[in-house]
Amino acid sequence: MSSDLQLSLFDNSQNTSFVTDSIPTNVKIPIPPGTYQNIQQITEHCNRCHRCELGNSRTHAVIGRGNPQAKILIVGEAPGQNEDETGLPFVGRSGQLLDKILESVGLSAETDVFIANVIKCRPPNNRPPTVKEIEACKPYLLEQIRILDPKIILLTGATALKGLLSDKRPISKIRGQWIEWENRLCMPIFHPSYLLRNPSREPETPKWFMWQDMQVIKAKLDELKEQL
Ligand code: URA
Repeated sequence: MSSDLQLSLFDNSQNTSFVTDSIPTNVKIPIPPGTYQNIQQITEHCNRCHRCELGNSRTHAVIGRGNPQAKILIVGEAPGQNEDETGLPFVGRSGQLLDKILESVGLSAETDVFIANVIKCRPPNNRPPTVKEIEACKPYLLEQIRILDPKIILLTGATALKGLLSDKRPISKIRGQWIEWENRLCMPIFHPSYLLRNPSREPETPKWFMWQDMQVIKAKLDELKEQL
């Protein structure tokens, strides 16, 4: 057998690209680490994804906004109506509050963080995502994290906490605590929409706890920057 023929027998590059192309249409196709080279490639797949039923009703998949070089990644739950229409996460009322919360400790939503969600497509009527939807979408989030390589991950609300870390503890019990995961520091924090429903700033209320947590996060970021 010629060496060319032997080599072609071992060449599975065409097969690999066929399998990669099937990722958005077949949830049974795994998405191994290293599948994507950049966020644009994830965006392209997510916008034609039907790994779960949410692909049938979305206008835009919502991948992220902010600075891809930032050390902080903020993970929310799922796009709402404004996000589905614009293709950007956290642009409704809770997004405006999130931006303000960041500003309160001198952080900019454009330069100091990248913002994404566990689920890339809007669930109908803003219902919480199902376990099946989270599992179908999770490999996209894991690839985002691998590519962005954040040092700090803020998990806003129970869906983000459960979705990424499979941690079912209530946010109210573990908010503000650092959890080490895959060589990164994760902190569960309240979801901004919870703060909109609980606007009091009195001590020991959700908004007050958020303010404490943000100061801890800012101090950790400054510490990490000094280490470089
Ligand atoms: N908008 C998002 O993008 N995510 C949320 O979790 C809430 C609102």
